[in-house]
Amino acid sequence: MEVGGPGFVVMAGPCAVEGAEQLELAARAVAQAGAHLLRGGVFKPRTSPYAFQGMGEPGLKLLVDAGRRHGLPIISEVMETEQLPLMAQHSDILQVGARNMQNFGLLRALGKLRKPVLLKRGLSATVQEWLNAAEYILAGGNEQVMLCERGIRTFETAMRNTLDLAAVAWAKERTHLPVIVDPSHATGIPSLIAPMSLAAAACGADGLLIEVHPRPEQALCDGQQAMSPGDFATLMQRLPGVLAAVDRHLWTPAGPAQIAGAR
Ligand code: PEP
Ligand code: MN
Repeated sequence: MEVGGPGFVVMAGPCAVEGAEQLELAARAVAQAGAHLLRGGVFKPRTSPYAFQGMGEPGLKLLVDAGRRHGLPIISEVMETEQLPLMAQHSDILQVGARNMQNFGLLRALGKLRKPVLLKRGLSATVQEWLNAAEYILAGGNEQVMLCERGIRTFETAMRNTLDLAAVAWAKERTHLPVIVDPSHATGIPSLIAPMSLAAAACGADGLLIEVHPRPEQALCDGQQAMSPGDFATLMQRLPGVLAAVDRHLWTPAGPAQIAGAR
């Protein structure tokens, strides 16, 4: 799978893997809607130490199995260097969370791997700090780095964070790295995820990372911002129109021309 080419890539799934049934419902829904990768946290960086911290290794096994069943590669967060051997063996993309953007030991360890890394922008990081964090991974020789804008802290409190779409266009202009947008953490409001996803597609992002939960009201993590499977499916149907306006298309294994020709 190519990220950063003409094909626009959509990664979706629950904030956290909570159990076999929840994950299967989420994976089936996002796969049927046309997502390209399955997301799911098994090590969760929670603000409170008493909140659900993720299922750990058993959750990772569920994620791997669900991805295989539905033909989707997986992306999951690695929080600590000690988790790297396990995560690097099983996760197709290693996510570095916003809170770890400047965990230089972790970044250096990721630089030694030859696996794709999605590096989230820190809660209050400037774009320059974000690029320097990416440089830690690249300098180690791991060239498969994608940036992820997930909203930053500003004086605004109406939304969970402030989505900095100009930073997406800025990073696309000044670096060769793919840029993914996470409208879920950026807004914290389900009804804003679709419009911000379309805006991200319009401004040059290379893909999306979206939280989808089969029963948002029962979620153990980030349920208040989870998109319903139905709303996600509607978004997937609307994306191609916006992408076409900026000469892009949803990623497909063969590319749209070959698929059209085969029909
Ligand atoms: C997440 O993707 O669930 C997550 C914890 O995101 P962030 O690091 O952007 O807060
Ligand atoms: Mn989350």
